[in-house]
Amino acid sequence: MDQYDVVIIGSGPGGYVCAIRAAQLGFKTALIEKYASLGGTCLNVGCIPSKALLDSSEHYFNAAHNFEEHGISHKDLKVNLEQMIKRKSQVVEQTVSGIDFLMKKNKIDVLQGMGSFVDKNTVKVTGDDAGEKEIKGKYIVIATGSKPNFFPGMEPDKERIITSTEALKLTEVPKKMVVVGGGVIGLELGSVYARLGTEITVLEFMDTIIPTMDRTMGKELQKVLKKEGFKFNFNHKVQKVENTGKGVKITALDKKDQEVSFEADYCLVSVGRKPYTDGLGLDNVGIKTDKQGRVETDDQLRTNVENIFAIGDVVKGAMLAHKASEEGTLVAEIIAGQKPHINYRLIPSVVYTWPEVAGVGYTQEELEKAGREFKTGTFPMRALGRARASGDIYGQVKILADKETDEILGIHMIGARTADLIAEAVVAMEYRASAEDLARMSHAHPTYAEAVKEAAMDATGSRSIHS
Ligand SMILES: Cc1cc2nc3c(=O)[nH]c(=O)nc-3n(C[C@H](O)[C@H](O)[C@H](O)COP(=O)(O)OP(=O)(O)OC[C@H]3O[C@@H](n4cnc5c(N)ncnc54)[C@H](O)[C@@H]3O)c2cc1C
Repeated sequence: MDQYDVVIIGSGPGGYVCAIRAAQLGFKTALIEKYASLGGTCLNVGCIPSKALLDSSEHYFNAAHNFEEHGISHKDLKVNLEQMIKRKSQVVEQTVSGIDFLMKKNKIDVLQGMGSFVDKNTVKVTGDDAGEKEIKGKYIVIATGSKPNFFPGMEPDKERIITSTEALKLTEVPKKMVVVGGGVIGLELGSVYARLGTEITVLEFMDTIIPTMDRTMGKELQKVLKKEGFKFNFNHKVQKVENTGKGVKITALDKKDQEVSFEADYCLVSVGRKPYTDGLGLDNVGIKTDKQGRVETDDQLRTNVENIFAIGDVVKGAMLAHKASEEGTLVAEIIAGQKPHINYRLIPSVVYTWPEVAGVGYTQEELEKAGREFKTGTFPMRALGRARASGDIYGQVKILADKETDEILGIHMIGARTADLIAEAVVAMEYRASAEDLARMSHAHPTYAEAVKEAAMDATGSRSIHS
């Protein structure tokens, strides 16, 4: 039987990063993946394909609505959805083949098949063609990720009642789509189709979109998406989603508990994701899970079985690719006897709509709830020369800093390129910068990053120069 130092089950951004870091640290490493294609949800049906379609649809939207203003005329503009989906698949293939290359480069053995525990050091791999094989691991890492969630009455049939996975490969631009859930995935994929001409109706249980982010950001994003044609229905509890043959009928209770119904071509169910441990044989080794089905771990991501760790979407915390990757690195380093650390408070959140939304640290609502005294600095994107030059004038940067010490407690932003700008906020907060520190740092002109400096200046005594 093949013996390894580290065996990792699941090849998403948690598992494959853990495998590479383990190999770098000199461990003999095996990576087990049930699908033929490595990279997990993120590369195959998540982050990468959704961003490919968001970029393609944004090009179309700009060509249709904004090119004239820049002096670019065109006629016969058309959407070729088949080509968009084909390009998305090519981007996925290239990205996945990059992971194959990295596995070979780092001499990681990849075993294709379903991994399941036999005992605490043995994993059985059951492949479609390869049959069954058992391997041994001194340490085993569970990185089996998540799958789309749904509630009773809205079970996806994957034809008309779809999840994000099907929304990434539709063969027609729907006339109407109902999106159940106003979270990140629903808004991103809703945006793709809204830009291509679909009428999007969002049904949300809460009273805001992106409820876990700073409320100002949700309100601002809602305004822009409304202009793009989104319709929002808050405090709506979906009861039933039915495939009517040519479309869908959705029944919900509105905020007065009155029954209301909606009709559309498709219903995208995007009410979060749930941890995936099916067929893993957790019971064979007595690994504990919590009420939500997440594998329980301590602060070193160790399960209740000492040599078995768990990372990524299958454990508690934000379901984000970069969080999974940080955890993959951490576990490999802990196995190597190092003392790594993750600052979970500083894992940034991003929504890749247009405008993009990004945030890190405490939200205003969290600070208010905790009774912490803070001051706020804001700066509108439209006051930037760079924003006017490109025409992307929408949004703002908001900085929350401790009232006494001036330490930055949270940075939230909405606008062009904020998905990239948030990295500056993470660096500043990792080094426990004050708003004054950021305000005094030179920011290249003209850039969107100047809004971060100006918001910091606003937080430190209303001395923003350009607003
Ligand atoms: C549409 C969409 C867009 C997203 N966009 C973003 C984004 O922009 N940014 C971001 O940070 N996050 C995004 N996410 C979330 C991100 O994809 C996940 O947080 C991330 O993939 C989690 O990584 P993971 O390694 O924990 O698990 P996964 O990526 O889910 O990988 C788990 C892997 O384990 C395999 N597996 C499961 N069980 C077994 C078994 N028993 N044996 C063998 N293999 C097994 C699965 O096949 C899968 O390949 C998005 C998700 C979706 C659905």
